[in-house]
Amino acid sequence: MTDKAIAATAVAVGLTAGYVAGTQKREKSEPVGRPSGSTTGTAAKEGERKYLIGGNWKCNGTLESAKALIVTLNEAGPIPANVEVAVCVPAIHIPLVLATLRDDIAVGAQNCGVNTKQGAFTGEICPDQLVDIGVTWVCIGHSERREGFEMAGEDSALVAKKVKVAVDAGLNVMFCIGEKKEEREKGVTMEVCAKQMEPAAKLLTEDDWSKVSIAYEPVWAIGTGLTATPQMAQETHADVRNWMSENVSPAVAKAIRIQYGGSMKGANAKDLLAQADIDGGLIGGASLKADFFNVINGAL
Ligand code: PEP
Repeated sequence: MTDKAIAATAVAVGLTAGYVAGTQKREKSEPVGRPSGSTTGTAAKEGERKYLIGGNWKCNGTLESAKALIVTLNEAGPIPANVEVAVCVPAIHIPLVLATLRDDIAVGAQNCGVNTKQGAFTGEICPDQLVDIGVTWVCIGHSERREGFEMAGEDSALVAKKVKVAVDAGLNVMFCIGEKKEEREKGVTMEVCAKQMEPAAKLLTEDDWSKVSIAYEPVWAIGTGLTATPQMAQETHADVRNWMSENVSPAVAKAIRIQYGGSMKGANAKDLLAQADIDGGLIGGASLKADFFNVINGAL
């Protein structure tokens, strides 16, 4: 990274050049402030679920490309009043995004530690630290993390504990579930989703669930260009909501948002979002482009 790029990030996160150059102790300059967003359309009515569109930037981006994406999002026009938007960005870019992204897009992390407090947990970021820096959302249980990256993946018990510690720390959670291709082909989609939700249903109180959105993401549709048809997605979303009604409570089932994730983009968002039980999306590839706003506007 060039000195100029380092200095630009420093300004964005409110640090002085001297601190970055290592000649000063940590010192804060005036915060730059986030640009204001703007709204269009009609707000969700009392008792209606507001759409939630999440972006998952995954492990993508350099300082340069993250800044360019922020400019694209900042200039993308108003957000419909019936939509809440949050982007889950690489941990290393959180300060930049928090300092420079329009203020009507919330900032999320893509993971957090299961440790409730800071301490000897090398490499982890605990929920309190995310809250401290200004993060309000975290994505937990993404299928890529469940699978692992040449490491043990996260099982549903660990995912549930993470959801609980994140909620207890004050974070909102996108809690990901979803079946693999062979599981859909065997006709066990709902059994798989139920197994993934069971430990969370045991740990979370009804109040806790108000901070959680379930992201139903069929694994075979993530990053593959294959999308569940709106009918297929709606069927599983309705099953997930019924399961929540029977295993948590009818009130939680009615209120909870269920996002669809899996190759969702501007071209298919409107049809998916029109389904009764699809309350938003979790968007990977398309969240790295201007097309993210076509997804957002699909809710209009
Ligand atoms: C995701 O990362 O959660 C996802 C749904 O990715 P994509 O939109 O690229 O399929």
